[in-house]
Amino acid sequence: MRAARLHEYGKPLRIDDVPAPRPGPGQVVVRVAGAGFCHSDLHVIDGELRILPRLPLTLGHENAGFVAAVGAGVRSVREGDAVAVFGGWGCGRCRHCTTGVEQLCDRPEWVGLSSWDGGYAELLLVPAERHLVKLSTLAPREAAPLTDAALTPYRAIRKALPALAPDDTALVIGLGGLGQYGLKLLRLLGGCRVIAVDVAPDKRETARALGADSVLDGRDPELLKKVLDLTRGLGVGAALDFVGSDATLATAIGATRTHGKVVQVGLAGGTARMKALESVRFEASFEVSLWGTVQELREVVALVESGRLAPIATEYVPLERIDEVYARLKAGRVEGRIVVTP
Ligand code: NAD
Ligand code: ZN
Ligand code: ZN
Repeated sequence: MRAARLHEYGKPLRIDDVPAPRPGPGQVVVRVAGAGFCHSDLHVIDGELRILPRLPLTLGHENAGFVAAVGAGVRSVREGDAVAVFGGWGCGRCRHCTTGVEQLCDRPEWVGLSSWDGGYAELLLVPAERHLVKLSTLAPREAAPLTDAALTPYRAIRKALPALAPDDTALVIGLGGLGQYGLKLLRLLGGCRVIAVDVAPDKRETARALGADSVLDGRDPELLKKVLDLTRGLGVGAALDFVGSDATLATAIGATRTHGKVVQVGLAGGTARMKALESVRFEASFEVSLWGTVQELREVVALVESGRLAPIATEYVPLERIDEVYARLKAGRVEGRIVVTP
């Protein structure tokens, strides 16, 4: 079967012919209908996030498809079932895995980001049936981005909700795939005002269309002052940073009110600087949010299948054109999410 593999950091993915996986006991093989291309793939390909223990590796951690084969003992799914694949695989035994936050496993085996090959391939071997969320009405290729682009902001925003009263404002920095879902989820779950910030004019346009109350340019030298002015100097209840650079973290921290919450999601390599009595207000908290749980994925799928959450703009591109997808995301020329369809 064909698979897009990373052989060397900083080099394009290569489409290789690799052996088709067969399911061992308890395992499931999924025919990939769609695999979303995440900005984390860029960080990995460019060698900025060296979390892969071996190369070559098939990337793709935002996957959904149809069950193609099940191993001995698998009971919850059968051939032909439409499934979204939860990707934060762990050891299944540590305290995080056994308490429902498997994506935080101390020995992560994340799909397409560890020694497990990912979904930029015709078939995907899933090590355990617990990682599959059955779909009822959603087509798998439409569900693919939910497994990360929607799941990750869902978890991050639910952490921020206690700091977001109806008279509060939330700040969303970076309106790409994750940020657009973040904005939609804040509007759905938050009930507060939202300020959206992006450096790209088309993303600011999208943010307006998605209902942001105020939209600001991430390159504006007065950005922090403008956010504070919009909150009468008090600061936002919660700031969600979907970029994670030095500059965006400083804005997020500087804009957050007393007793507010900063949640970092973006992995652009920045350092958060918090100096008491100077850059950070009293009892503001900071958290790095990571991906989501399989239960949170079920909840996100339920929101979409029930019509309460509409998917962001999604484009479908065949596996052969994956390098084009890489180049476009890097250049910021993706409206919402691109899903690779092997
Ligand atoms: P994307 O490329 O779709 O979107 C990034 C957006 O940020 C773009 O709209 C871009 O114009 C904007 N941007 C860039 N620099 C900016 C700045 N200085 N100020 C304001 N906006 C700016 O990316 P994505 O797929 O949505 O991923 C976003 C980030 O989240 C990436 O760093 C990715 O690695 C990370 N991520 C983290 C997790 C996690 O679990 N923590 C999960 C998935 C992705
Ligand atoms: Zn991702
Ligand atoms: Zn574990």
